Amino acid sequence: MHISSKQLKSDIIIIGAGIIGLSIAYHILEADPQLSVTILEKEKILGLGSTGKGTGSIRYQFSSPLLRRLSLLSRDFFRNFESAFDTPIWYLEKGGLMLAAHEGLWNQLQVTSEQAEAEGIPMKLLKQEELRENFPYLRRDRFLGGTYCPWDAYADPYAVLAGLYSAVRRKGATVHFGREATKIIIDGDRIKGIETKQGTMWSPIIVNAAGPYAAQFAAMAGITLPVQPFRRQVYVCTNPRGVPPVTPLIMDLASGFYLHQEVSAKVVLLGGTDKYTWPGLEDAVDKSRAEDFFLAAIDTIPSAIDIKWLRTYTGICEQTPDFLPIIGEAPGLNGLILANGCSGHGFMHAPAIGCIVADLILNGGTERIDLNLFHPDRFAK
Ligand SMILES: Cc1cc2nc3c(=O)[nH]c(=O)nc-3n(C[C@H](O)[C@H](O)[C@H](O)COP(=O)(O)OP(=O)(O)OC[C@H]3O[C@@H](n4cnc5c(N)ncnc54)[C@H](O)[C@@H]3O)c2cc1C
Repeated sequence: MHISSKQLKSDIIIIGAGIIGLSIAYHILEADPQLSVTILEKEKILGLGSTGKGTGSIRYQFSSPLLRRLSLLSRDFFRNFESAFDTPIWYLEKGGLMLAAHEGLWNQLQVTSEQAEAEGIPMKLLKQEELRENFPYLRRDRFLGGTYCPWDAYADPYAVLAGLYSAVRRKGATVHFGREATKIIIDGDRIKGIETKQGTMWSPIIVNAAGPYAAQFAAMAGITLPVQPFRRQVYVCTNPRGVPPVTPLIMDLASGFYLHQEVSAKVVLLGGTDKYTWPGLEDAVDKSRAEDFFLAAIDTIPSAIDIKWLRTYTGICEQTPDFLPIIGEAPGLNGLILANGCSGHGFMHAPAIGCIVADLILNGGTERIDLNLFHPDRFAK
């Protein structure tokens, strides 16, 4: 299908209809409904990127103040989503528990909890005895302590994506599926447009929201983006014995293992132990990693020894070297806006990133956060 002449020009073209691209489109059109926004998505249907694979955790417990700030900026969006968009997303504040298995992590949690509380985020320190009393299904001798935040929550990523998709369509955005951006058209130091197999589209502003493909896309403009894709495996299992039907998100910070209960409480999603893998876009399940994973699971929750392993699926996460996103205009190239490298937190931070990028495009900057800290140049410096 070729592009009609009416579709040839847009004020803004966004590459990628994942949660980041749709959130940016939504916030731009919310601020200025007159703008023409076009989204190009290479897949034929919604949700085939990272967003559709995510486990839906929303959390505030980060050692980085910047990541906590992004969570805070996103909070109201999730809390008000169902009434604002008339779409169920199964949002549930079921809390989150971070566990420290050694002294270094315990010290870090104490510092983080103090900082978070000062910012208004409830993050309670739990000593070993309190953990034993409140979470008797955890391995008794493994953890020195932990922190609990009642704000940590769950929402269904695909439901949020679908709700946002309908909202941006209602606001007038054009979304093209099955349309891959194959070349960036540049004139001197300015962005001019995008080539696709179906034709060329023109715009002075192009947003890179290509998720795990962000570096590939930026390379079309000769830009090296330090964003690498990593495979993440999710093990879908039955609820471990003794773990109540509504349990907070549990993370063992040492092994990376996490337990995340589905809203149905019948199955749990477990994962997080594949931090140290090679970068790449390969998404086949790697069964050789299962043993390490189940050992880590039993190390955190001993009753995991007899859970039923229902299936495994994979998704690709886009990661930067410092685990902070890259947000800003590409150095030396006017009009190419980067919103990349959410490093495993893109779902929970998409509302904030959407607002910030809309501010940047419409006002040249934002007062919500210091954008220098997310600048694409920070690694070179
Ligand atoms: C297993 C797993 C669990 C996760 N759990 C969580 C979690 O609990 N909480 C959380 O906050 N985050 C989580 N994440 C991370 C989160 O899912 C991502 O950070 C987020 O979805 C990134 O959104 P995105 O829009 O940037 O990427 P995507 O959703 O991948 O969207 C990018 C889109 O761009 C399209 N695209 C790429 N190149 C082109 C091109 N050239 N032309 C046109 N289209 C293109 C792709 O097809 C894709 O649809 C998880 C990720 C994984 C894999």
